[in-house]
Amino acid sequence: MVVPAAAVTAISGGNASGLDETAGDDDALANASILLVDDKPDLLDSLHQLVTLHGYEPDKALGGHEALELLCRNRYDVVLLDLIMPGVSGHDVLDFATREGLTCKIIVVSGDASYSGVKHALHCGAFDFVKKPYEAGELIATMETALRQCRLERENARMEQRLKESEALHRFIVNNSPDLVYMLDRNGCFTFLNDRVETLLGYRKDELIGRHYSEIVDPEHLEHARHLFDERRTGARAANNVEVRLKSRRPRGGSRRFHGAQGVWAELTAMGVYRDPRERTRSGFIGSYGTARDISERKEAEEVINFQAYHDLLTRLPNRVLLRDRLTLAIAQAERNKRKLAVMFLDLDRFKVVNDTLGHTIGDRLLKAVANRLQSCLRSGDTLSRFGGDEFMLLLPEIRTRDDVVVIADKILERLSAPFSIDGHELFVGASIGIAVYPEAGDHEETLIQNADIAMYNVKGNRRNGYQFFSEELNHRFSTRLTMERDLRSALAQEELIVHYQPQIEIASGRIVGVEALARWNHPVQGLIQPDQFMALAEEAGLVAEVDELVQRQAFLDLARWRSEGHDNLKLTVNVSADQAAQDNFVARFTAALDSAGLPGSAVNLDVTEGTLLRDIESIVPRLRALRRLGIGIVIDDFGTGYSSLNYLHQFPIDTLKVDRSFVGDIRADHGGAPVIDAIVAMARGLKLSLVAEGVENRTQLSYLNEKGCASAQGFIFSAAVAAPAIGTLLNDDPFRHMAGSPGSTQPEPAETSAVAGAESEPR
Ligand code: C2E
Ligand code: CA
Repeated sequence: MVVPAAAVTAISGGNASGLDETAGDDDALANASILLVDDKPDLLDSLHQLVTLHGYEPDKALGGHEALELLCRNRYDVVLLDLIMPGVSGHDVLDFATREGLTCKIIVVSGDASYSGVKHALHCGAFDFVKKPYEAGELIATMETALRQCRLERENARMEQRLKESEALHRFIVNNSPDLVYMLDRNGCFTFLNDRVETLLGYRKDELIGRHYSEIVDPEHLEHARHLFDERRTGARAANNVEVRLKSRRPRGGSRRFHGAQGVWAELTAMGVYRDPRERTRSGFIGSYGTARDISERKEAEEVINFQAYHDLLTRLPNRVLLRDRLTLAIAQAERNKRKLAVMFLDLDRFKVVNDTLGHTIGDRLLKAVANRLQSCLRSGDTLSRFGGDEFMLLLPEIRTRDDVVVIADKILERLSAPFSIDGHELFVGASIGIAVYPEAGDHEETLIQNADIAMYNVKGNRRNGYQFFSEELNHRFSTRLTMERDLRSALAQEELIVHYQPQIEIASGRIVGVEALARWNHPVQGLIQPDQFMALAEEAGLVAEVDELVQRQAFLDLARWRSEGHDNLKLTVNVSADQAAQDNFVARFTAALDSAGLPGSAVNLDVTEGTLLRDIESIVPRLRALRRLGIGIVIDDFGTGYSSLNYLHQFPIDTLKVDRSFVGDIRADHGGAPVIDAIVAMARGLKLSLVAEGVENRTQLSYLNEKGCASAQGFIFSAAVAAPAIGTLLNDDPFRHMAGSPGSTQPEPAETSAVAGAESEPR
């Protein structure tokens, strides 16, 4: 920025006039510089004496020539000049003074009192004329008048200069103000604008002078602006800071995302100008002035913050807060209009697997793609919001019947059923949708969301892609579930969970070679509860790893006891959930429990499902390897029901395949064979893995498995899972010896399928 010199002088307080401002009138006269010019030495001297007598210190010039020399060198206030001089005359001196623009006052003192002489002298710029021989008083009076005049003129010039400087300073300040400064006349037309208008809005000043302010206010904000300017007309209040958008011709840098229209956000101030500042009346109003400050950046920041507070940044959908707001509003409207509305709670079914296996970047892209597809299912007026994670919430504010909702739910499920192609991956996600309809499922925003959630939960529990309306029955189920969850937590603390064991028999010898530990819940009111009724709950509640550990601790102690009682080769199989295997300290905790029971690794097998292995291959597989190095056997549980990919079977640390009981159930006397079992047997042989069959219920199955080379089996044909004391008895009685080699698949089935009738004995 270039600051004008005049402004600098004004700022620094410099005095360009050179006149001593503090000097009084007499001092000014005393300090006056005076030149006396005459070609007669005696006349010059007497003049000098006279002037000196009055307290002045004049210079003398003997003749015109000398006078010119002195005038060139010095600056005089007053010159007393003789006209008729040889050589350079008084007229020549006058001409010189005019030519050079000298400001001194020249008083002609001459004997030539002819009219033309005086006229000529005055014409040539003389200040006054005193006739020779002069009267002393008159001469001095004329001289002092000239001095005074001279001083006044100087002062004037100085003041003018200061005004100029001051004006330049103010103009500089106003024009360099970061704010637009304006004045309006009483009709609202611009009478002044500073330079800022050009950089801020792109208008030239002269384009706007005389134009009405409304021409540069965004039409949407005119009301605001009017309010500001009209209020000022009569009000005595200070100017408000009103935020409006001004029209701009300049392309703005930065983000335009939040600018609906091209414009500049400005904070306006306005003050009324009144003829009489003490009387702020409408009639006395003559205009207004004020500033407009560019607040676009702050506005943009505010809009970003606002957006973030009410939207999910990944999908840019409304978030929970905004959805709740809209729902509250929609409920009020529905109530007024006696209409229904619906909320849908939507949870993606397989999102977690994608996120865990392919990473968050792909997970995020999948979520965005899902959001797009969901949006394409909605009508205008519906709100889709992301609640976080893989949960979405839909608000359908205008529905007539449930069928309207069913149409949308079907559409969503159908749209989501097509695969998503992301980064070369073909991904499938289903959705579980819970629906709550106002007013049946609640008349409050909180209740509706919660009930839609409960309905969604139910769909999830049924493990299927689908939708479900909230109902009272669901609610009951849900609260039962909540009670169960609470009970399960206390069961863990109270050690109500106990362990039953199912024997595993070596088919060839009929000997019990192992036992599988299976959890049971000895509920104080409901009695013995089977795992299929609480394991899923434990998993959802995040308690399953705790259940596993409790079962394992107990089972290790039981096994150690049986081993010490002479069954030293007995092996224990424990189930390990994905949650337990996913714990960072899984290996350490597991081996610590083994150690504290004094058991070697070779005494136990781990049942893990394919799903567990695949949940987090990178961390779970190395843990299983570490356990395997300690002699612990790894068994793939429920084999054949999962992915059963040859690729991972080959790479993973596995010892045994446990044939799922569904395939064992397929072995029937009237069928020629069981091709799945045959395939699994072949696969195990090729990969050098052992085989164990579960769920063996009859001799046909046992013989078939035996023939195929399956080494061991467990199932009701031998025994269901029983409490520890019953296992002790079985171990000692060795009751399955007679079934060694399982001869006679052709033999009739025993009347009792189980060797131990009523296998589920009383809990310990
Ligand atoms: P699983 O590991 O596949 O266990 C075998 C299940 O089959 C047991 O059911 C057992 O009682 C049952 N079973 C045994 N023989 C037969 C038979 O001949 N026919 C039929 N139809 N079923 C038979 P259970 O004890 O109800 O356990 C169910 C599931 O619960 C287990 O399946 C296992 O996945 C899980 N589970 C049990 N205890 C634990 C545990 O401590 N930790 C973990 N993570 N899961 C456990
Ligand atoms: Ca198992």
